[in-house]
Amino acid sequence: MEISDEVLDPPADTDELEGWRFCSTCESYAPPRSWHCVVCKTCILKRDHHCMFTGCCIGHRNHRYFMMLLIYLFIGTTYTTAYNSVYIWWFRYNDFVNFTTILKLICPMLMFTLDTSAINLFLLIYMLNVIGFLQSLVLLVYHWKIISHGAVVYERKAPKYNLGWKRNLEMVFGKRWYLVWLSPFVSSELPNDGIHWEQVLKESDKMK
Ligand SMILES: [Zn+2]
Ligand SMILES: [Zn+2]
Repeated sequence: MEISDEVLDPPADTDELEGWRFCSTCESYAPPRSWHCVVCKTCILKRDHHCMFTGCCIGHRNHRYFMMLLIYLFIGTTYTTAYNSVYIWWFRYNDFVNFTTILKLICPMLMFTLDTSAINLFLLIYMLNVIGFLQSLVLLVYHWKIISHGAVVYERKAPKYNLGWKRNLEMVFGKRWYLVWLSPFVSSELPNDGIHWEQVLKESDKMK
């Protein structure tokens, strides 16, 4: 996603100006929930974090794509791990259920010395599956907990924009959140512009 370096004018209304901060790097005012990213070299609206897997910031407009990446990765690796587990531990029982396999799983470099046959390839793919499965599980649980409270990573300890699970999902997946699981490219308009959060803050305060 292309990063636009638009300079936003701070609101004239003092009530609305609350929450805006001056970013000394961008040398301009930045709206609430935005944070400066040193890698992207700009302030990102509703910044969640800079993602090392996608090489960009996850924020207001691409949060849904990131969450869908985690969801699809989790579904894909759950399926392949289950499928490969049955293959390795059940159908190829004689080849894999032995002490050498345990050693190779603990230290994969032993595949070059203990046994150099092609069955190592299955083991290698299986290990990648399991790592992918565990990693996507941990990341999905971590990020799902945060978005279900209407927060981003920085706000996780004290979520201030919590509007209940349904509207919190809308903040990330858009108004047609129930369709986005099919594809994040489904048109689903976000309820906020990423700049003005006063109304959300007021409603969240009322709900407490
Ligand atoms: Zn900045
Ligand atoms: Zn970034």
